[in-house]
Amino acid sequence: MRVVSLEGVIDEFEALTKDAGRTQRETLQKILEQNGETEYLHKFGLGGRTDPESYKACIPLVTHCDLEPYIQRIADGDTSPVLTGKPISSISLSSGTTQGRPKFIPFNDELVRSTMQMYRTSFAFRNREYPIGNGKALQFIYGSKQAKTKGGLIATTATTNVYRSEQFKRTMKDIQSQCTSPDEVIFGSDFQQSLYCHLLCGLIYSDEVQIISSTFAHSIVHAFRTFEQVWEELCTDIREGVLSSRITLPSVREAVSKLLSPNPSLADSIWSKCVRLSNWYGVIPALWPNAKYVYGIMTGSMEPYSKKLRHYAGRLPLMSADYGSSEGWIGANVNPSVPPELSSFAVLPNIGYFEFIPLEKPKGQQLAKTASTVHYTEYEPVGLTQVEVGKEYEIVITNFAGLYRYRLGDVVRVAGFHNSTPELQFICRRSLMLSINIDKNTEKDLQMVVQEAAKLLAAEKLEVVDFTSHVDTSTEPGHYVIFWELSSDTTGEVLRSCSDILDLSFVDAGYVGSRKTGAIGALELRVVRRGTFEKILEHYIGLGAALSQYKTPRFVGLSNNKVLQILCRNVTGCYFSTAYAV
Ligand code: AMP
Repeated sequence: MRVVSLEGVIDEFEALTKDAGRTQRETLQKILEQNGETEYLHKFGLGGRTDPESYKACIPLVTHCDLEPYIQRIADGDTSPVLTGKPISSISLSSGTTQGRPKFIPFNDELVRSTMQMYRTSFAFRNREYPIGNGKALQFIYGSKQAKTKGGLIATTATTNVYRSEQFKRTMKDIQSQCTSPDEVIFGSDFQQSLYCHLLCGLIYSDEVQIISSTFAHSIVHAFRTFEQVWEELCTDIREGVLSSRITLPSVREAVSKLLSPNPSLADSIWSKCVRLSNWYGVIPALWPNAKYVYGIMTGSMEPYSKKLRHYAGRLPLMSADYGSSEGWIGANVNPSVPPELSSFAVLPNIGYFEFIPLEKPKGQQLAKTASTVHYTEYEPVGLTQVEVGKEYEIVITNFAGLYRYRLGDVVRVAGFHNSTPELQFICRRSLMLSINIDKNTEKDLQMVVQEAAKLLAAEKLEVVDFTSHVDTSTEPGHYVIFWELSSDTTGEVLRSCSDILDLSFVDAGYVGSRKTGAIGALELRVVRRGTFEKILEHYIGLGAALSQYKTPRFVGLSNNKVLQILCRNVTGCYFSTAYAV
């Protein structure tokens, strides 16, 4: 894509956001015109009207549970216009790691179109600050298993639906982000083999690679942790021009072997660079000298990986990718030079109709015992251009693929505006994780607590590879359990101190109060063997999750007994906090 057309993309974005309120009205009108004859809109008596006021008056706010029966009918082969005028082409499976089980979500070409608009828009802004020339991208992307629903629709992850589309390849070419790996690698049925081949293909084309990316940052960190284990084997393959025997899938072997020929000088160069590195610091720019940046979602549940990613990326900038979900895209990162932890996402006002439920934390109120979501006081939803800077909201989506006033369950904060469209910061999923009685802690709280306690490990040159949590109510009173996988073994003393810091860093008043009165027992830190979180990942992949969309579950309940078993079987040490000991 030439500079001229990238400027065109920016101009288009500026035009769409200049009067975002108008773009929103037009977008809603289009959605409702396309789908006016559907059973769903009829049922609520919209009667062909397409203005926001009638829409909001007739159609209720819903969660995924409410739509499930409709989506299930489509999956079962009902071809009447249930949710959309045009038929749904396939079903997306959300990752399921955030909510415990994968959800069925309708998918169609409109979602591919908006995905491409999102990719182009954020690329145009990125390219303005970090221009790249002709080249390729080392993308750690993975298709997942495809299943057929009872009605014959393909059911797979949203990313797989996108990677399989024709437009994806075209757009990647346009934005100089062609994947170094052939399709057989992306869609290989064994992610370990695909990962090895991604690394190998990336090295074969090392001079051409300008971007290192993945959907979520976890996949890049995961890839380089693997690289630390397999780099010598990769060098051997390149030196001899023969693919390792670990690649057993015939289609993958054939496709990658075509790219391999003996190249001792490249192998020598990789080898000498690797042995000179100190603890793999800066491995990315060392091996990919023309790479300009590292790109992927680094916000939200990906934040804990950014430290390790910085380590591997050395001097290269990290750029946080856009904000979206299987339900649809939301916003583009149009300020790419902002550090990842501060990234915000400008909502694209023509890809859906967005509403925002204002959320306020109740003051002095206590949480109902049975609550499974963070309790906020909710107000009437407001439109895209009515949100206020500094306030928090839950996003509600109406899109071209049959979602109407659908509560996404994500909490965002308005960081500012780009023209008249808001720039959103991702705060957390609304679902509450840690709660025993009146205490309430979210994924974000857990993340901050772990970050605080992990500081103690720095002196020991240790890091937390991954973590999750659990509430143990088998003892009376119940207590929080935090599972840690560490980069190597360590003595008990520092971990005992870590368990104290973990306990003390949960500052939620309900927790602190309950700890003081003994209504919640001492926090327990359980250290698990190296590789335990890889086993959890494999477990989810086996269930049909995609590595591209993988998010480590940060809370494991009793109902998730397979994962709990993996964790408990691998515990090497338990450390109880003495922080609140009387
Ligand atoms: P999935 O369930 O696999 O469709 O994942 C979608 C979810 O991932 C969203 O609802 C968010 O909670 C999270 N997510 C997606 N993009 C971002 C982002 N840029 N920053 C933080 N979280 C994100």
